[in-house]
Amino acid sequence: MLLGEPAPTPADFHFRLFGFPVRVHPLFWIITLILGMGSGKADPVNTLVWVPVVLVSILVHELGHAFVQRYYGGHPWITLYSFGGLASCNDCDNRPLSQILISLAGPVAGFLFAGVVIGVLAAMGRIAGLTVDLIPVVWIPFDLQYYELHGKLTPRDALVWDLLQVNILWGLVNLLPIYPLDGGHIARELLTLGNSRNGIVRSLQLSIGTAALVAAYALLNGRLFLCVMFAVLAAENFQTLQRYRYSWR
Ligand SMILES: [Zn+2]
Repeated sequence: MLLGEPAPTPADFHFRLFGFPVRVHPLFWIITLILGMGSGKADPVNTLVWVPVVLVSILVHELGHAFVQRYYGGHPWITLYSFGGLASCNDCDNRPLSQILISLAGPVAGFLFAGVVIGVLAAMGRIAGLTVDLIPVVWIPFDLQYYELHGKLTPRDALVWDLLQVNILWGLVNLLPIYPLDGGHIARELLTLGNSRNGIVRSLQLSIGTAALVAAYALLNGRLFLCVMFAVLAAENFQTLQRYRYSWR
């Protein structure tokens, strides 16, 4: 979950999935393509593999949120936008436990999807060649070597690697306690249980601290895009904290 819901455009692509209305904003295709090309996946076939992988993986993630929202009586819709997606509803259950489970369901759906991919690979007898790569899949995307290697992968290996990267790595990143990531929502619900005002301040401080640490880590590892992304999240949370404190004076 990132950013608010974008305004409708004539280039929006609409369809329904499991009864949920889905809208794909044109920026989704553009940003995904740029991410695919800009991160060293210069091989055109691998870039073409990347786009449907991101589309399916983000749909799986948002469906995770949407099914739990529906379980709690909501009528959600899904929007795919620049850096991911949103599962929104006007009639969502706002109780803390429901909100925590709704937020958890996105990353968990991705982990389960990755589990299915690994299961299918195992059934096909392809796991032997992959066991070596499963652990690096979690940390290697933070490493420049991954991108050097990615260009040399066959389209099939690139497909598997991309699927695991998006569903495992992005899922773990999404669980960091940084607002508005899913982990940030969970941290805010937990911290506001006792005292809502103090809880919001502490959840914003936690967001700023965690985002700043990730930005520093990314900078030290030469990952400028990641660094800028988390520096922006830290700055946005800092501004929200200032506004929030000011509004209480
Ligand atoms: Zn999410």
